[in-house]
Amino acid sequence: APARPAAPSLLADDVFIAVKTTRKNHRPRLALLLRTWISRARRQTFIFTDGDDPELQLQGAGTHVINTNCSAVHTRQALCCKMSVEYDKFIESGRKWFCHVDDDNFVNPGVLLQLLSTFSPSQDVYLGRPSLDHPIEATERVQGVRTMTTVKFWFATGGAGFCLSRGLALKMSPWASLGGFMSTAERMRLPDDCTVGYIVEGLLGVRLLSSPLFHSHLENLQRLSPEAVLQQVTLSYGGPENPQNVVDVAGGFSLQQDPTRFKSVHCLLYPDTDWCPLRKQG
Ligand code: UDP
Ligand code: MN
Repeated sequence: APARPAAPSLLADDVFIAVKTTRKNHRPRLALLLRTWISRARRQTFIFTDGDDPELQLQGAGTHVINTNCSAVHTRQALCCKMSVEYDKFIESGRKWFCHVDDDNFVNPGVLLQLLSTFSPSQDVYLGRPSLDHPIEATERVQGVRTMTTVKFWFATGGAGFCLSRGLALKMSPWASLGGFMSTAERMRLPDDCTVGYIVEGLLGVRLLSSPLFHSHLENLQRLSPEAVLQQVTLSYGGPENPQNVVDVAGGFSLQQDPTRFKSVHCLLYPDTDWCPLRKQG
């Protein structure tokens, strides 16, 4: 009998990577991402911001930049507005996987692709790092009844990045599409990443798959061994409030030259980059 054709392998362009940012972070944060990992994942990356910026258009040439017109404040409403636009743009894109990251995340697109290829996009997949070591409890008003019920669910912390399969994302549409995400978040008074967990676990009964390959600055990033750093899906850094919380990698850049360590990580992954220090001969 003729051999069954192999399952189509996952291509880089099957993945939609949404980067959440805000106008005031374009220079201090996004510029670094554009020079590092985004330069290796241009066509997969969709930047969601809240203000027009001609400089970003230039630096980000070849990257999708979407002005959400959401307000540029750190409120539940503004952040959920962005997640809502990310969701709608993903659905519209027809791609197989939705991944969300913050503008202080480094993404290793190769490792991400490897991880996602172990699943089928038509399965229900919600993948990320649980935010807490216990499920969150939220109260739900039952329609037409005067009582409240509590729902318990896990959610993936947005600051470490998370992914959803297309199959699952489509099932979320009654509570997520065309502004529905904002109403769900408002009704439950939940932040954006919790709302995703509520829809997936609480409403659809699908479980979060916990992956240790996603990292936020809520954890101690120095605990990753230098070799392990290059094998992670996402990384992050502590920022000005916690400058010591960065991954431990050596390389051509000092802590002063590369306080986030993202340039050092990038040059270890892609030593052929023109601005990377030349490797020692011999
Ligand atoms: N952010 C935003 N609007 C704001 C403030 C922050 O979209 O008004 C985004 C920011 O670009 C980042 C994410 O929200 O992608 C988390 O922000 P930050 O890292 O500053 O705070 P954290 O919650 O990690 O402490
Ligand atoms: Mn952050």
